[in-house]
Amino acid sequence: MTDGLRVIVSGGSMGGLFTALALSEAGHDVDVFERAADELESRGAGIVAQPRMLEYLGKRGIARPDDFSLVTHRREYLDRDGNVREGWADSMTFTGWDTLYRRLRRAVEDDRYHAGRVVGFERDGEVSVRFADGSERRTDLLVVAEGGRSGSREQLLPDVSPAYAGYVAWRGLIDEHEISRSLVERFEDTFVFFEGDRQLILGYLIPGPEGETGKGDRRLNWVWYDNVRDRERLNELLTGSDGAEHDFSVPPGDLRGEIERELRTAAEGFPDVFSRLVGATPDPFVQTIYDLSVPEMAFGRVCLLGDAAFVARPHTAAGTAKAAADAIELGEALDGDDRESALEGWEEKRLAAGRRLVREGIRMGEGYMD
Ligand SMILES: Cc1cc2nc3c(=O)[nH]c(=O)nc-3n(C[C@H](O)[C@H](O)[C@H](O)COP(=O)(O)OP(=O)(O)OC[C@H]3O[C@@H](n4cnc5c(N)ncnc54)[C@H](O)[C@@H]3O)c2cc1C
Repeated sequence: MTDGLRVIVSGGSMGGLFTALALSEAGHDVDVFERAADELESRGAGIVAQPRMLEYLGKRGIARPDDFSLVTHRREYLDRDGNVREGWADSMTFTGWDTLYRRLRRAVEDDRYHAGRVVGFERDGEVSVRFADGSERRTDLLVVAEGGRSGSREQLLPDVSPAYAGYVAWRGLIDEHEISRSLVERFEDTFVFFEGDRQLILGYLIPGPEGETGKGDRRLNWVWYDNVRDRERLNELLTGSDGAEHDFSVPPGDLRGEIERELRTAAEGFPDVFSRLVGATPDPFVQTIYDLSVPEMAFGRVCLLGDAAFVARPHTAAGTAKAAADAIELGEALDGDDRESALEGWEEKRLAAGRRLVREGIRMGEGYMD
């Protein structure tokens, strides 16, 4: 075993936390810096838990599938009257973004997870990382896990930027005890969809924030993909209740009252089960759908991973799993002696995986929304 590297991870969401776990396990000395450390725990909605990620979490005792996720065994597409138009057996495992975040966060030692915003870095053999409070730290490796709007990526690749896909995802999450039993039952063991005219809405049950899977403690999650080609309309949707213009999403509680009312009215055209669900959800929120691909992920002693490198449309249900795989494979690559060629090998494999996923997301999105 060679000496461990000093590693700084910029970004403490899914990609950053998986990196901290995988690189510590490979014997490195890892510190994570997150600019919104106090906020993350209460954010997010439903996500698909992919098998490889579940296996990784299970083996390390971070989360067992049965105390952290829910499985559906059927997929159904409804017609406008709410009858099943098509349905088939299909197994999917769901969890909550917050449920996963909390488990990962607890697995990383508190003195390794810091509040702090990276504002730049210099490379001079080592890497010198600058923070918003004026401090600086030197490191052997900087891992950029800053998400789709990464500032450090902009420093490395100023010509790369996210491309808006022409539609948004309205999203909502509601505790099951706040809605009627009959509504919840419609989603029991079933992943339910409705396709309208260039519209798609889907819903599924997820566990409570601490992984509660018992009846009464779960939450219902919905996602509604909606075409918004007009830029002015998009800007209107992205203007929050305080008048601030958001770039890519408006978080729960920040949507303007008039937009929320329009949303609930538009949902009345959906099958009853979805219009009731949207109608009852306390704080719907919106995220724009965009594509992002980088030509490189490794830049000597700096590398990009997760959404900072590739953002695939959510239809692939793989954003979190991709960030996890980037991190786990980086840990494997940095486990041996020849780190330089290992990083090149890591980059080649992860570039291919990222490109594949982005292509797949575009293909799926065009199928639903064009
Ligand atoms: C709050 C939140 C909620 C989400 N909810 C869902 C969901 O419900 N379903 C789903 O499928 N996906 C969700 N995602 C996206 C999903 O987590 C990502 O697709 C995936 O996990 C990739 O994670 P990432 O760590 O690469 O990027 P992200 O999850 O985007 O995280 C990037 C992190 O970097 C931090 N950061 C950015 N710049 C800096 C900087 N300069 N210095 C320090 N920190 C910085 C950000 O605050 C953020 O926490 C959510 C992401 C966030 C941040």
